[in-house]
Formats: sequence, structure tokens, C-alpha cells
Amino acid sequence: MVVGGGIAGLTAARCLSAAHDVLVLEGSPVIGGKLRLASVAGVSVDVGAEAMLNRRPEGVALARELGLEVVHPSLATSRIFSRGALRPLPRSLMGVPFDVDEVAASGVLSEAGLARLRAEDVTAVDQDVSVGDLVADRLGDEVVDRLVEPLLGGVYAGRARHLSAAAAVPQLLQMARRGLLLEQAAGLPRSDVPVFAGLPGGMGRLPAVVAAGLQVRTDAPVRELGRDGDGWVLTLGSAHRPETVLARRVVLALPAAPAGRLLAGIAPYVDAIESASVAVVTLAFSRAAVEHLSGLSGFLVPPVEQRGIKASTFSFAKWDWVRDAGGEHAILRTSLGRMGEERTLQASDEALVARSLAELSALAGISAVPVDTHVQRWGGGLPQYAVGHVLRMEQVRSSLPAGLAVCGAWCDGVGIPAVIASARRAAADVVRAQ
Ligand SMILES: Cc1cc2nc3c(=O)[nH]c(=O)nc-3n(C[C@H](O)[C@H](O)[C@H](O)COP(=O)(O)OP(=O)(O)OC[C@H]3O[C@@H](n4cnc5c(N)ncnc54)[C@H](O)[C@@H]3O)c2cc1C
Repeated sequence: MVVGGGIAGLTAARCLSAAHDVLVLEGSPVIGGKLRLASVAGVSVDVGAEAMLNRRPEGVALARELGLEVVHPSLATSRIFSRGALRPLPRSLMGVPFDVDEVAASGVLSEAGLARLRAEDVTAVDQDVSVGDLVADRLGDEVVDRLVEPLLGGVYAGRARHLSAAAAVPQLLQMARRGLLLEQAAGLPRSDVPVFAGLPGGMGRLPAVVAAGLQVRTDAPVRELGRDGDGWVLTLGSAHRPETVLARRVVLALPAAPAGRLLAGIAPYVDAIESASVAVVTLAFSRAAVEHLSGLSGFLVPPVEQRGIKASTFSFAKWDWVRDAGGEHAILRTSLGRMGEERTLQASDEALVARSLAELSALAGISAVPVDTHVQRWGGGLPQYAVGHVLRMEQVRSSLPAGLAVCGAWCDGVGIPAVIASARRAAADVVRAQ
């Protein structure tokens, strides 16, 4: 039995189905979780995840294995809104720049911030530490506020001073243990391999293809998990009309909150994992309204700027397929919401659209009225990896009885390739030792 029909659950079920009878129980009416398409101005576009890392193999390999064409973003470049203007986004490893002169030329940092950046000194790093504390200690607060925060905000919707370096950017921690970050970042091999990949038609196409041939039951939220001899008993449905289902083995492929509830009394820590809520606002404009933005794929906004959005992706410029499918319309999206900023999203859909439009006008000069809009809320959408997460995950896994495994975004990484890897691991673990 696999509980949860997001990309983690579907991947785990696919792995297991070669040799076992598998049923996926999905709580909502649709499979796919954070991979979802919606129609905006008549064009089907992603309103959740829209890309996957290409420099990790799992996502692209799964897509190709399923016969899907894989594409890469265009060469349009990203900007960052810092110190009152949209500026070139310096190349970096999660905010640690490859080239200090490039940062200086971009104008992202003040003179004082630049001077502090150039003055890195080696400090000891033994145990896990937050990404923000690690980088602030070496390169100064301004690098954290204006480079690290917006990048982490995009991927985790998290705050740099809370997210675990070992879990979120392990390479950075290893570099800090070896010596100077800047020296090593400058020496990182440059690669021509595109960083990201996507699917024509959107990442939201992937779940249905993974699910083909699998047994899936939707509208089947699992509320309780208990032992039944060597196996498991799952309680699903509403409280007044419960249904029980028996399973020899169970893979839990749920977000942290429901996984934590089902694992209460079985595994530690999971119920303490926090998640950030985010929203994606998709807008369609006439092409003429965005002509002045050619060559740009979007921009990030650091929290220190205190604006109403944290990023905008110019999908029409980033993805050829979005541009072609859009025809007369240019489709782009904004994202809102970071950990600890729940109030940002406590507003009507109309208010989130209005805030996005105000920021697009002020920061990117888009002043037209959109021809269509769509608001997608992802309550508790992104798990937050607290300092010590990697060790605690080892404790979680070692406390699970035989025949029970976990996977998903809260385990070993929130990106699609990491989630797929966690699903493969869960599929292997759950059939072992029984
Ligand atoms: C707005 C946004 C943008 C993102 N962009 C990117 C990106 O561009 N690239 C990238 O790599 N990653 C991105 N991510 C992260 C990535 O999409 C997710 O980490 C990943 O899709 C999570 O997959 P999952 O299967 O672990 O969880 P989910 O997708 O959350 O799936 C879990 C499933 O479990 C179901 N469920 C919940 N409770 C129960 C229950 N009690 N019983 C049964 N079923 C239940 C849910 O309905 C859901 O279908 C983004 C995330 C968000 C929120």
C-alpha cells in the first residue's frame, strides 16, 4: 500500500509494482500533489513545480524512462531586485558567489557589504549549522540578506537562519570545513550542462504518466495507521463513515504534517517538522505589455526589500513551449509566502492578484491589465529542514518497523529529483527485512 499520490507516492508505487500488488491511496480528488496544471487564458500551465534540477539524474531519468521529451529553459537571464533596482543575479552556489567582481558590478550589495564579502576568514564549522549563520559568519549579513535569502526563499520558502546547511546545501558545509568559501566557489568547475530541465506542456504532466497502469484510489484520505499482526491496518474516510484497509507493507508518501500524525507513537520528530505556506499567482498579459522585458526570465526579491512578492517567473520567456502555447498572450507567475510570513497569504485571491500586479508594475514596469489570472495556494507546501535534520532523519528511518517506509519532500530534499530518490529508497526499504 502506498499512501499519498504525489510524485513520491507514484514513483514508489511504480517501483514496487514490478513485483508486488500495489494500491495508491490519495486523499484528494486528483493525483500529482504539487505537480499540477491549470488553464490560464486557455493555456495549460504549471501552477506548482515548473522545473527540475538537471544536474541530478533522477527526475530527467524518470521522464525519459517514461518516453517523455525533456526540454531546458531558454538562455534568458534572471534578475534580483536589490537596493531599489532590478540587477543582474550573480552566479553563485546558493548565494555564495563564484566571482566577487561580478557581484560588485551587479550593484546587489552596498560598498560596506562588498568589503565584508571580500574579507572572508576561515572559522571552524563542526556540526550542522543554519545556512544563514554559516554564510553570515564567513561573508557577512548582507550576503545572507540579499543573495542567500532570495535563493533559499525560492526553493524552500524558508529563512536562511533556520534552514539546515547539512540538509539544504551540504556542498556549502563541506566547503566551509575545507577552507575559504569564496576561493572554492571561484574554483568550482563551470559546466555547459543546463542546470534545469522541464517537460513541454509542464511538469504537471508527469504524475499521470507515472501513474499509468497503477491502481490508484482518489478521495481516500488515510486518518490512522495501526498494527495488524505483522502487517498494518489503515483507517480511511471520514470520522463518521470510517473504512479499514489491511496491508502487509505501507509506504507513507505524504507531506510532513499528515505523515507526522500517522507516525505518532511510531517515529519521533516528523510531527515537529514545520512547513511554509506559499501561493503562485499566474497572469496572462497581451504580448505587447511585456515586450520591454525581452531576454529576462524573471526576478527574485529578497525579504529585506519588504515587497509583496518574493519572485516572478516570466514563463513566456523561460520556456519556449509556454511562449508558443500562449500565442497572443504572455504568461508569467509571481510567488508569495515565506516561513513565518503566514499573514502575507491571509488575503483574498483578488488581493493576491492585486498585490502581484502592483509589484510587477513597480519592479518590472508591467502596467497592463491581465487578460486572465489564476491563484494557487499551497498551504503547508514546503517542509522546513531545521538544523540537525539529517541526523533526525536517520533516527526516523531506524525507528520504523519492518514493512513501513517513508518518502517525500520532508525527507531528503524538496526538489523533484531528491523526492524521486527518496521514493526509490522507500520502495527498496519496505520490501527488505520481511
Ligand atoms: C509552489 C511550489 C513550487 C515548486 N517548484 C518546484 C520546482 O520548480 N522544482 C522542483 O524540483 N520542486 C519544486 N517544488 C517542490 C516539489 O514540487 C515538491 O517537493 C514535490 O512535488 C513533493 O512531492 P511529494 O510527493 O513528496 O508530496 P506532495 O506533492 O505534497 O504529494 C503528497 C500527496 O499526499 C496526499 N495526501 C495528503 N494527506 C493525505 C492523507 N491523509 N491520505 C492520503 N493522501 C494524502 C496529497 O493530497 C498529495 O497528493 C515546488 C513546490 C511548491 C509548493
